[in-house]
Amino acid sequence: ATSPDTCQVKTTCPYCGVGCGVNARVSENRLIAVSGDKAHPANQGRLCVKGSALHETSGLEGRLLAPQIEGETVSWDKAFNHVAQGFSETIKKYGPDSVALYLSGQILTEDYYVANKLMKGFIGSANVDTNSRLCMSSAVAAHKRAFGADLVPGCYEDLELTDLLILVGSNTAWAHPVIYQRIVAAKKARPEMKVVVIDPRRTATCDIADLHLPLKPGSDGYLFTGLLSHLADNNALDNSYINDHTEGFEDALQAARTLTADLTQTAELCGLDKPDLKQLYQWFSQIDKVVTLFSQGINQSSSGVDKGNAIINCHLATAKIGKPGATPFSITGQPNAMGGREVGGLANQLAAHMDFSNPENIELVETFWQAPNIARKEGLKAVDMFQAIHDGKIKAIWIIGTNPVVSMPNADFIREALQRCELVVVSDCMEKTDTTACADVLLPATGWAEKDGTVTNSERVISRQKGFLEPAGQSLHDWQIICSVAQTMGFEEGFRFNSPAEIFAEHAELSGFRNSGKRFFDISSLATLSENEYHNMKPVRWPAIKDSKTDSTRLFVNGRFNTPSGRARMIPVTPAAPISQVSETYPLVLNTGRIRDQWHTMTRTGKASRLLNHIDQPYVEISLHDAADKGIVEQDLVEIQSAISRCLARAKITAGQPAGSVFMPIHWTDQFASLARVDSLFASIKDPISGQPEAKHCPVSINKL
Ligand code: SF4
Repeated sequence: ATSPDTCQVKTTCPYCGVGCGVNARVSENRLIAVSGDKAHPANQGRLCVKGSALHETSGLEGRLLAPQIEGETVSWDKAFNHVAQGFSETIKKYGPDSVALYLSGQILTEDYYVANKLMKGFIGSANVDTNSRLCMSSAVAAHKRAFGADLVPGCYEDLELTDLLILVGSNTAWAHPVIYQRIVAAKKARPEMKVVVIDPRRTATCDIADLHLPLKPGSDGYLFTGLLSHLADNNALDNSYINDHTEGFEDALQAARTLTADLTQTAELCGLDKPDLKQLYQWFSQIDKVVTLFSQGINQSSSGVDKGNAIINCHLATAKIGKPGATPFSITGQPNAMGGREVGGLANQLAAHMDFSNPENIELVETFWQAPNIARKEGLKAVDMFQAIHDGKIKAIWIIGTNPVVSMPNADFIREALQRCELVVVSDCMEKTDTTACADVLLPATGWAEKDGTVTNSERVISRQKGFLEPAGQSLHDWQIICSVAQTMGFEEGFRFNSPAEIFAEHAELSGFRNSGKRFFDISSLATLSENEYHNMKPVRWPAIKDSKTDSTRLFVNGRFNTPSGRARMIPVTPAAPISQVSETYPLVLNTGRIRDQWHTMTRTGKASRLLNHIDQPYVEISLHDAADKGIVEQDLVEIQSAISRCLARAKITAGQPAGSVFMPIHWTDQFASLARVDSLFASIKDPISGQPEAKHCPVSINKL
């Protein structure tokens, strides 16, 4: 119950890709409490510690409250004119590819839609990429290769219905805590459900594991090609499914046998005990309902796409897909990485999940948008985009809702690139970040509690995020800022939106435009929602096709895929070791990840003392063996040195950290502690297909200071 001066608003958590529904209690323009929304399919009333502290992080402290040019506060009109003029003059002088947008999986689908439309339809360049490139772009590419489209086949319920859950490259307990809570509850109700964790480290997720496989860092590809070989050699294939619904099986098997034909060899390549590996392979062979949940440990790799396909190959070869409790499942990091994929917010996508490979797509989007300058080729992906800025080829960049000076690999190079760039515009809700420090123009954007629109979570569920507080200071919504700049640049038609509901309606209409079943992403049933219906829209899973009676909970139920032949493609994968290898100078492998109570670069969660109580300073997790070798004891200040940079952190010595490797969290920035940006240690090594950077394997040395 709420008192007369309070109200309750249903919204969505702004942190991870689980996408939990939140009840926000609001009084006098203040968020006073939050609770989990029991009616939301993702969390069914649960929240994790970050979600349940949302009301402790929504204050005005540190907010950017007015537009600034070169540190001077200016009016919005002046800021719009400055940005529009800067972009227009650069384009006139150097062409459309001399400008770029860099977006975020934290902004809403409506913001993403207009940013993508401005660059790809009106400016005429596809140089619009996003921090989601760092998160799940390898999974996107693996899906497209296997299924013919970027489709996540399963849903969260599959994690509860399965008989064998394999968590690979995912510390679910800390990175996706509500998913973990659901798994814990399912395991409690059915203790016979087996849980396997594949991770070099013994993380909190291992607490419920029947089997932990502490594989050698970066060796996941070998493990899954070895599994395919094992399935073939042990009569565990589903030959009729392979024959009827897939193509490329023989080539995929031949490639799998190149390096991992036998169990002894595979165990050696993965650094695992043979009986443990055999146990996993036997379970996978014998159990029908298997889910393999994969996350950043797979994606953030120099061969992340191949690793994703090696996993998917095993599911296709055994028909463990498209059924309750049986699916490969990529879980995304950010709350709206999936929404960004929908609108085309990646440089290699066009719009509405269409890409540039088909000229018909380009003509369709051009017609729908009445676009004066449609982009006709892919743009630069994140790593290449910042390289082009450093090289002086991109002369103006607009960064929206993200902090690449901390989160990109080779972070010092990113800072240098921005310092060299002629025009750096940053839209953010926070004033002082490592990236805003490089900006010529700062544009104050609304924060989570003020923004209004939609997000899509890892199981394709679109949820409303509602603005229930007044915008702080002079801040505006990202879509308003983008539309105002677009109109000031002379693109008046195409950006006359009055509300996020109008933008969402256009996005939904585009997904159904000349579609009639030809394209898989279709939410045309939502194109005619009234403002009121949009405001009260309940979580809805896509596809959401007009007049369709088909259930979209699981995909590929009938064994038909989105390839031209209708068959899933099994991809020949010859696994590769990580590109950077340890040496005498840098003998340890650095791995990175999230901690339980912080989010990204801590601009919000760093405000809550309750969340800082969990872990309050940057640390490096070191094995007992390596700590003894270096004479390091708990809490010592340690220098971590890679070939390109160095960091400082407190030593945390644990039995769960394997010898020869160290772990550091991604969150700390130079705003919190000096030399704390772990991504400055990583070279810009990326997957050749997806462009996703390596963030799990960096050779380093450590020394006590
Ligand atoms: Fe928010 Fe993720 Fe926690 Fe859910 S699990 S409350 S979405 S941080």
